[in-house]
Amino acid sequence: MRYNITVLAGDGIGPEVVAETLKVLDKVGAKFGHEFNYDHCLIGGAAIDATGECLPKETVDKALASDAVLLGAVGGPKWDSQPANNRPEKALLGIRKALNLYANLRPAVVFDELKDASPLKSEILDGGLDILIVRELTGGIYFGEHALKPASPDNDLGEVAYDIEEYSQMEIRRIARVAFDLAMKRGKKVTSVDKANVLESSRLWRRTVAEVAAEYPEVELDNLYVDNAAMQLVRAPKQFDVIVTSNIFGDILSDEASQITGSIGMLPSASLTEGSFGMYEPVHGSAPDIAGTGKANPIATILSAAMMLRYSLGLKEEADAIEAAVDKFLKAGYRTFDLQAAPEHKVVGTEETGDLIAEMI
Ligand code: NAD
Repeated sequence: MRYNITVLAGDGIGPEVVAETLKVLDKVGAKFGHEFNYDHCLIGGAAIDATGECLPKETVDKALASDAVLLGAVGGPKWDSQPANNRPEKALLGIRKALNLYANLRPAVVFDELKDASPLKSEILDGGLDILIVRELTGGIYFGEHALKPASPDNDLGEVAYDIEEYSQMEIRRIARVAFDLAMKRGKKVTSVDKANVLESSRLWRRTVAEVAAEYPEVELDNLYVDNAAMQLVRAPKQFDVIVTSNIFGDILSDEASQITGSIGMLPSASLTEGSFGMYEPVHGSAPDIAGTGKANPIATILSAAMMLRYSLGLKEEADAIEAAVDKFLKAGYRTFDLQAAPEHKVVGTEETGDLIAEMI
């Protein structure tokens, strides 16, 4: 089969980690008989330098016409003086919105070999950890009405600001279905996180998620308040399979969960819309401090490509092969610069990591 992938390498270490990922994808293509066509488009600082705009229309059009999008990272000090509406990071919000990517999937997986990198005690992680956080990405308080009211001479409040959290049943249903569909392919447990003891929007969230749950009798549904969920994530993270939550709670909990794994260079993510289309990117940024040194860990992007194969291209066996190769790389004693290495480990750079993982496919 032929697949068309829009590649947005971006800035800093983006192009470095994307290059290694394409190496791995090419190996998967050769081994399993697929052809991956890459259409390289501009985004972020690189796009500003070439066209003046952080997100050229051509990039959005090409992304929409492709089977999936693979993104490196954007941003860097070079573009810090850009006006707010044309900063590299603005391109990320722009492309997510343009592609209607309403479901953000962030797995928090602890590879057994890297258990010691986690700040949690190793007995809490015995037997490994595999949580999938499903965050609503295009609604809620980040997209509600925002206002700043000037100070009034009639009271001593000073300035007053508010941001509105608003969710429709349509938005809640569609993100809940994503979570339940994924749970069916995993541990068949969904934990919905809200603040239904205080917020009306959370009470609608909880009621609507329960309605969707009725369509999935095989999946167990658990409801947690967000404060309790934050606590449980560090106390007993293995109780979770799929967590589904709103935009703001998901933003915070997914960062918390990522820290449990101990390494930002290992964390992939996917952002999905209706159907199978999606955008795949590492959780980390453009790491300008190590760009050009050959020290960037490409594994987060390589694992993002595995998610792309699984969720957008329906290539499960191929996705498994990439994840198994990463596991093999770690088990063979290789470590990237960002991972704690013991004397028995061999520390390897960006290119060698890509070469080794491709070889291990
Ligand atoms: P960052 O994730 O780029 O870097 C944080 C720290 O982690 C740095 O010390 C970096 O060297 C290290 N690191 C990150 N990825 C690594 C990897 N793959 N291998 C080894 N080490 C790695 O976050 P930051 O420094 O806050 O931001 C740098 C730039 O990236 C900023 O311009 C920011 O706006 C942008 N950013 C972009 C994205 C994105 O494109 N999705 C996400 C976050 C930050």
